[in-house]
Formats: sequence, structure tokens, C-alpha cells
Amino acid sequence: MTRTIAIAMQKGGVGKTTTTVNLAAALAEMGRRVLAVDLDPQGNLTQHAGLDPDRVSPTIYDALRAEVDGGTSDLPAAIYRTAEGFDLLPSQPELSLVEVALINSLSRERVLAGLLGDVTPAYDYVLIDCNPSLGLLVINALTAADSVLIPIQTEYLAARGALMILSTIETIRRKRLNPHLTVEGILLTMADARATLTRDVQEAVQQQYGRDIRIFTTVVRRSVRFAESAAAGQSLVAYDSRSAGANAYRAIAKELEKN
Ligand code: ADP
Ligand code: MG
Repeated sequence: MTRTIAIAMQKGGVGKTTTTVNLAAALAEMGRRVLAVDLDPQGNLTQHAGLDPDRVSPTIYDALRAEVDGGTSDLPAAIYRTAEGFDLLPSQPELSLVEVALINSLSRERVLAGLLGDVTPAYDYVLIDCNPSLGLLVINALTAADSVLIPIQTEYLAARGALMILSTIETIRRKRLNPHLTVEGILLTMADARATLTRDVQEAVQQQYGRDIRIFTTVVRRSVRFAESAAAGQSLVAYDSRSAGANAYRAIAKELEKN
């Protein structure tokens, strides 16, 4: 059974892309078949996985464009094998034009779900890295996904930001776009080195959401190694395999596997 997980949060810079690439690498390391999907026109995931969003072709843009224009799409042609053992469906800047074109198309929320339907059975995990908004691309991701993983920064009040994405998930269910969509969990990222602060935030998040939602036990600490690995076009799991950050994402992958 394939698990399709959208990594989503309307705020930028919370660790969505970092989480997607490192979870993909950690799961691949465990022998899982993984497809990472870059659904952000900025192409950060594409770059992070070692491809150039300004040069790679075809991309998810071509497939979505063809669907919107009523032509025939070839999604498998846009899937690339990375050196880290997971597959990547890259993005390019023109993807932002598709978001606009989608508005007037039929079943505009389900275009991605339709496209992915043919390729997902070949994978254990499909991880969709979303852009920082609640626009039509994100709605497409939430309609295609089984669950949503919500990264938030480990800071006081940052957890409030999860309310908007949670209410969007509720709307997606209520409107029957994806009645079985679940919340995979909330992941605390970029935690401060001060352990007491982290613990306080962890407790606050647990208090606010923990009754209904899994809060991942593993917290990702702040480390400059993440930005270094991004610049090198590698996950941290590959770039510095023994780093604390790499091990954190391995632990999160194991938590995912547990349920
Ligand atoms: P998003 O996709 O939500 O916009 P990113 O994953 O791109 O967020 O992360 C934003 C920036 O923070 C990037 O430069 C990334 O390398 C860096 N970063 C991500 N996670 C961490 C972390 N745990 N510690 C320090 N920097 C991080
Ligand atoms: Mg991103």
C-alpha cells in the first residue's frame, strides 16, 4: 500500500523542503521505494536533490500543463532517479503559471491526484513538498494525499500557524474532495539548543493539539549543516551521514513506519 504524504504549512522557512528531502533519503536508506514530488514553483526541493530547476525538462509543470490544456501528459518521463536512491518529480518556475491556469479548468482540485494515480502504485511512499500558501497547488496536494505532515518551528506561538492548515484539511474533508485525508503529525523543527525552551514548546504543542494529532517524538534541532547540504544539492542524510540532523530524520522515518 502506497502512503502519499503532503508536507504542508502555509508559512515559508519552516523546514518543509528539508523534511521532504531528508525523509525521502532516510526512507530510501531503509529500502523503501520513494517518490519525492516538488510542487513548489521555487524548485527548492529539485535543487536540494541535485537537479537544476531552470534546466531540467520535462518536469511536473509539463504534465500539469498538458492536463490543463486537455492534451496528453507523460508523467513518467518527468521522474528522475537521484543518486540517493529515491525518485524525484522536479519543478520549474513556470509551475506558478499552471496554478493560475488551473482556476478555470475542470476538476481543478483533482488534476494532480489524477496524474499521480498511475505512478504511485510503484512506490511505498510519495512525499509531496508544498509551496508556502493555501492556494490551488496545495489544495491539489491535499486532494491527492492520504495524510499531511505539518512542520512547525520550535518557537513560542509558532504552533498557532498550524491552525490554518488544519482548518484547510477540514474543509478538504467536508467538501468531499478527499474525505479520508488524515493528519500524519506535527513535526517540530529548528529547535533551539536550549533544551528547556524546546521542552516548553513541545509541551505547549502537546497541550494544544496532542489529543487529536500525533506530535512526532523526534525534534529536529537547528544546525547549519542543513543549509550546507542544501547548497551541495544533497540531503543531510547523504551529505553528512553521521550528523545529528541526519539521525533525527532517520528517527522520524522510523516513527512514520510505526503507524
Ligand atoms: P520551507 O520549505 O518550509 O520553506 P526549508 O526546508 O527550505 O523551509 O528551510 C528553510 C531554511 O532553513 C533553509 O535554508 C534550510 O536549509 C534551513 N533549515 C531547515 N531545517 C533546518 C534546521 N533544522 N536547522 C537549521 N536550518 C534549517
Ligand atoms: Mg520549501
